[in-house]
This record gives sequence, C-alpha cells and structure tokens, in this order.
Amino acid sequence: MYYSRKRPLEDLPEEITAIWSCPGASCNGWMRDNFTFSIAPVCSQCQSEMVKSERMLATVVNTSPNQLKK
Ligand SMILES: [Zn+2]
Repeated sequence: MYYSRKRPLEDLPEEITAIWSCPGASCNGWMRDNFTFSIAPVCSQCQSEMVKSERMLATVVNTSPNQLKK
C-alpha cells in the first residue's frame, strides 16, 4: 500500500478537464466532455447551445463503456 498524504488538499488529484459549459448568465449548467459530440450539445436546463470550456476537476475513474475501449 502506498499512502502518501503530504497535503490534505491533494487527496484527490485534479486535472484540467474538457467540459461543456452553458453560456447562460443565470444558468450554471455544465457537463463533462465524456461524450464525443459532433456538434455542441444543448444545456439540459435551458436548452442553450453549450460552449467548450475547461475546468479543474478531480480525476475520476470513468466507468463509461465508451471510455474503456481506447
Ligand atoms: Zn443552461
């Protein structure tokens, strides 16, 4: 076992993750870019066309079948 806890804030590794973000000022909808969209997806909350963005997110193990076959 390898437990290295230098700094509590680094328990979860973070990485810059591609996301889709809603441009709506009153809407904070966003989604991970886990899917391959040929066109921009629309926000599930306000149906705005989402824009590509980036976010620092904790790295997660993606269990989506699409991600497993690379
Ligand atoms: Zn929205």
